[in-house]
Amino acid sequence: MPLSAAQVKQAAIEAGFDLAGIASADPTSDYARYRAWAELGMAGEMGYLTDRRGELRADARSLVPTAKTILCAGKRYNSPYPYSTRFDDSERGWISRYAWGCDYHDILRAGLTRVAEKLVEAAGHPFDWRVCVDTAPLLERSYARLAGLGWIGKNTCLISERHGSWFFLGELLLGLDLEVDSSPPDRCGSCRRCIDACPTTALVPGSDGTWMLDARRCISYLTIEKRGEISAELQPGMGNQVFGCDICQDVCPWNRRERFTVDDAFSPRAFAPPLAELARMEEDEFRRMFRGTPVWRAKYRGLLRNVAIAMGNAGQPEFLPLLVKLAGNADPAVAQAANRALRRLENSVTKTA
Ligand code: SF4
Ligand code: SF4
Repeated sequence: MPLSAAQVKQAAIEAGFDLAGIASADPTSDYARYRAWAELGMAGEMGYLTDRRGELRADARSLVPTAKTILCAGKRYNSPYPYSTRFDDSERGWISRYAWGCDYHDILRAGLTRVAEKLVEAAGHPFDWRVCVDTAPLLERSYARLAGLGWIGKNTCLISERHGSWFFLGELLLGLDLEVDSSPPDRCGSCRRCIDACPTTALVPGSDGTWMLDARRCISYLTIEKRGEISAELQPGMGNQVFGCDICQDVCPWNRRERFTVDDAFSPRAFAPPLAELARMEEDEFRRMFRGTPVWRAKYRGLLRNVAIAMGNAGQPEFLPLLVKLAGNADPAVAQAANRALRRLENSVTKTA
């Protein structure tokens, strides 16, 4: 008996995934939108989205030529800590919820590899497969939508009616013919909370009436992907975010339900660390604290730059000496951020004096 779609999805659930669905590996119509977005320059400096690797996203078969279907699987990571929109301690730095625990790439990859091995054993014959988690050139959210996991909201996240948007996505490309799922309806309706809440107006309307993320204005991009200096215009809107931003998900009504992960790997190593502590951190402490977590991607100097901006936004005079020290940092982006932050902070201290 050939493997059924139900068996494949059940294998994913048994491997610890919370959502599972099957999409065809055929090219998706979303690729045209993706290209249009990239051509508008909205990918910023993320060359891997716009160069040859971006073009590979046109067809999942550029990754596995014999792929017929894709198992799309989601794993929840939300944990019982407040949302950034309900957390007003400006002396602490906000790290995006997904980055509090261990790096999800390895965890999802290991889970999907277990699924593939189980399926090969159950099928009784070999077939091609490949695991993709975030880094492969694949339109992940589009396939996940086609696999029935959720719709792509105005905040550009994949949203599940049952689980909200706090889940990681991974895919298993399969050389197997399976019954595919269908996309759920878009349930954003007339809501526009995410658009109104975005502090840097990074969610912008597209010509086809859908919403796009202008990464160049998005705090997630600025604090994680952007190297070097951050535009002075955007720095005040960054608030106390030192790695990523959760605001457009925090305000989404589909994330009101509290469905938490049961995986300890995603528990916070340090929830909202004090900005002063981060500013004093030496590089070896950064390594100790963040190696093996998504924060590692920002690198030491990127995090220091973000911390300097957050301290400038905090309006706390006790940050002045720390900013003076960061203003002398050898990295020009850290020094520039600290100098600007000093000016912002001195202005706010003068106004309140
Ligand atoms: S992550 Fe933050 S900055 Fe980016 S679109 Fe959402 S609210 Fe705006
Ligand atoms: S906040 Fe509203 S508009 Fe934005 S993604 Fe959620 S439901 Fe959609």
